[in-house]
Amino acid sequence: MDSGSIAALLTLSIEYEPETFTKVCSQSVESQLKATAMNNPFNINHVHRNTRATRTWRFLNCIVSASLLIFGGATLSVAQEVAKGKSIAVKKPIPDRLVVLTFDDSAKTHFTTVRPILLTYGFGATFFITEGWDFATNKKDYMSWQEIAQLHRDGFEIGNHTRDHLGINDKNVTKLSEQLKGIEDRCAENGIPKPVSFAWPGNATSLLAFDALRKHGIIFARRGGAPEHSYESGWGFAYEPGLDHPHLLPSAGDAKPKWELADFVRAVSQARDGRPAILQFHGVPDTAHDWVSTSIERFRGYLHYLASEKYKVIALRDLAPLVDASVVPDDPLRIIEQRKKSIATSR
Ligand SMILES: [Zn+2]
Repeated sequence: MDSGSIAALLTLSIEYEPETFTKVCSQSVESQLKATAMNNPFNINHVHRNTRATRTWRFLNCIVSASLLIFGGATLSVAQEVAKGKSIAVKKPIPDRLVVLTFDDSAKTHFTTVRPILLTYGFGATFFITEGWDFATNKKDYMSWQEIAQLHRDGFEIGNHTRDHLGINDKNVTKLSEQLKGIEDRCAENGIPKPVSFAWPGNATSLLAFDALRKHGIIFARRGGAPEHSYESGWGFAYEPGLDHPHLLPSAGDAKPKWELADFVRAVSQARDGRPAILQFHGVPDTAHDWVSTSIERFRGYLHYLASEKYKVIALRDLAPLVDASVVPDDPLRIIEQRKKSIATSR
């Protein structure tokens, strides 16, 4: 873009109504802005809703993208400031160092080991419950419903991980509703509220499942760190409200047996600039699935780190007062593809 175009753009930004400016902006300099939009962490041009607030936000977004184009990295901090609580997907400013703890698969050690440690620190967490494998008869490796109900009474969130730990795909998605209901019924029997959070079993996902999740009152659904990062690494990205679909929230970290404190720190250090870091754990240790196990010693180290570094640790449902889950990107896969590209180019 030459200096004349920049001057014209700035004139437009001053003289025109937000709607007009955004329209002109998108028509005349769209290609240039697209290139810089990648650097604008809250570029939400592709978010649904055509409210006055949305149009105004798009206008502001256009200004930020234009600033990035003109001044490059020097104004990234401006965009980051904008990112702090001003996306239309954000209802209240999201503080730095906000971590969501989640535990999958109803492991017995969630009750015997994780619960007392979390209570000591006063940390919140979500336990994603399934009756998969031999949950019904094996009470050595899996919690009882009495223990799950106690977790609820302790103040922790009970989330839905499907009745049979069914990996959802486009072909079996018609089974999702009965899978969700299986856990909802058990929750009702045990005095536990209907779950509003969901974790995709096996981290398999299907866009065709969104309708069923919505109908069952699921606000947030958490996936793994893949496909941006490999499943084996356990690495992932922090949640970007407005860009990540609320039913495809990435795990910033999926704790693996080989993980060290550095992997954990890498995951949680992404919790800044309006992006909470959602962490995925299994048993501590996981006595039925050793490939996703975390040792007690490591787990204690991770939580000690969160406490000593003054992280705020919450359950997934606790994001609802902060994030407007009705604001969704029109293409839920766009942010994922952008991240994959950014990883590929940085290699
Ligand atoms: Zn699972």
